[in-house]
Amino acid sequence: MSVSLHDFQRKDLIKKLKESGIKSESVLDAINKVKRELFVSPEFKRFAYENNALPISNNQTISQPYTVAFMTEVMKVEKGNRILEIGTGSGYQAAVLCELGAEVFSVERIEQLYNEAKLTLQKTNYDVKLKCSDGTKGWKEHAPYNGIIVTAGSPGLPDELVKQLADGGRLVIPVGDKDVQEIWCLTKSKDKNGKESFTTDKYQYFKFVPLIGEYGWQNANNR
Ligand code: SAM
Repeated sequence: MSVSLHDFQRKDLIKKLKESGIKSESVLDAINKVKRELFVSPEFKRFAYENNALPISNNQTISQPYTVAFMTEVMKVEKGNRILEIGTGSGYQAAVLCELGAEVFSVERIEQLYNEAKLTLQKTNYDVKLKCSDGTKGWKEHAPYNGIIVTAGSPGLPDELVKQLADGGRLVIPVGDKDVQEIWCLTKSKDKNGKESFTTDKYQYFKFVPLIGEYGWQNANNR
C-alpha cells in the first residue's frame, strides 16, 4: 500500500502532539485515523497537518489539532459513550469522537456549516447525528450524555448543558471573555442517596470563536 504525503504528515503531527504532552494512546490513534485534509477547503489542504486552526465558512474555524486532542483527552471518552458536541464546524472533532467508538450527536447554529459538515461526514462515512440549532440549549431528546464538549468560547457554564449530563458525565468547555478562555471540565456525580454534586477542574488557556446563543454570548461583538 502506498503512503501519501498526507499520511506522512499525519504521522508527524501525532509525534508533535505527543511532544506537546498528549498522552492518551486512544486519542492519538483516533487523530491518526481521521483525514483532516477532507475537512478543510481545497486551498487549505496543504496546511491540513500543521498544528494550527484553519478558516472554514462564515468566519469560523476548524480547531487546532492540539486543542482537539487536549479537550478529547480531558473528556476521557470510552467506547459506547454517548457524546454531545456543541459547534460542529467542519465536522472534524465529531469524526475524532466517532473513531473513539462514541455515539456522537453534534449541534451547529450556522446553517451553511451544518449543511457542509453533513456532506463531509457522509462522504467520509462517519455516523454523526446532526442538528442545526442553538447548542447552548443542548439536545434534550438524546440526553443524558456521558460527555459534552463545547468547541466555542462561553461566558459561563450553560445550565441546560449541565442538566443534560449523565451521572459521572463530563462537560468540557472553554470559559472566559471574548479574548481568552480556560478549559474547564465539570464532572457530575451522585451519592448513594441520589444527591448530585459537581467538581470542576481547570486547565490551560486557549482562544476560541464565541459561543453565541441563549445561554452563551448574545452576539459576536458584545464583551
Ligand atoms: N468542532 C469544530 C470542528 O471540528 O471543525 C470547530 C468548531 S469552531 C471552533 C466553533 C463552532 O461553534 C462554529 O462553527 C460556530 O458556528 C459554532 N457555534 C457557536 N455558537 C454556537 C451555538 N450556540 N450552538 C451551536 N454551534 C455554535
